[in-house]
Amino acid sequence: MDNQCKICPRKCNIDRSTSKGFCGVDNKIHIVRAALHHWEEPCISGSHGSGTIFFCGCNLKCVYCQNIEISRCQNNGAEISEDRLAQICYELKEKGAHNINLVTPTHYLPQIKNVLSEIKNHIGIPIVYNCGGYELSDSLNTLDGLIDIYLTDIKYMDNALAKKYSLADNYFSIAVNALSEMIRQTGNPTFDKDGLMQKGVIVRHLVLPSHRKDSIEILKYLKTNYGTDKFILSLMSQFTPNNNLNGFPEINRKITSFEYKSVTDCAYALGFTNAYIQEKSSAATEYTPPFDLTGV
Ligand code: SF4
Repeated sequence: MDNQCKICPRKCNIDRSTSKGFCGVDNKIHIVRAALHHWEEPCISGSHGSGTIFFCGCNLKCVYCQNIEISRCQNNGAEISEDRLAQICYELKEKGAHNINLVTPTHYLPQIKNVLSEIKNHIGIPIVYNCGGYELSDSLNTLDGLIDIYLTDIKYMDNALAKKYSLADNYFSIAVNALSEMIRQTGNPTFDKDGLMQKGVIVRHLVLPSHRKDSIEILKYLKTNYGTDKFILSLMSQFTPNNNLNGFPEINRKITSFEYKSVTDCAYALGFTNAYIQEKSSAATEYTPPFDLTGV
């Protein structure tokens, strides 16, 4: 690992063998769960489940995070070696996983690259990089050929919202630069005969209370700059207030049907006909598994 960590846009420039950066983790791999997961998009979860590996730490600090326990390292999971991570990938495949799904992997990129370099030609199922979108395209470039599917967020267009809710500077330009690199690597989405994604990019967007107009601007930008066939759009309605939102009254509630419909109507009008549009009734808690070292 780089002795002065610059893996992500935070560019903390610290030595992670002796200190921790914004993401909250040292230079060891920390995970909290490795198990089949059925709550990703249908082309990822399929009938058997996605082989999800949940990593500790995060390079964003979203105030509304549903996984604060692990993103803020309150639960620091177990420290594992690169060999054990490779072994876990094979174990998930044995259990029937349709893919290996690396959840919040950004700050472990060098170790993940080492592991994937060893297993990529042998494991025989797609590798999914599941991230918050705040990625350096130069760092992603080092994964070229190792990742089959990018599952990325585009959370905000308005950088003031990104700063306010995720403590992230220049989020939008960084996230779309990363998106371009992801699309360059994977090409347009491809699927097997059962509809399971084999290559491509899924862009997730969680609609926030009071900010539907930002969502609509994101959709318009994506349509203008990428068209509708270079990635699969996944719109999510599951925003659920946590206990961290007292200083943010405008988002301290669920989204309304009007808010969500105005965004989904826009997606359809722009031609995102292959999009995943989450049901407004979906609850966030059912997507969050226990972080209890299962499979670690
Ligand atoms: S990966 Fe972590 S330590 Fe490295 S630049 Fe990003 S936030 Fe900082």
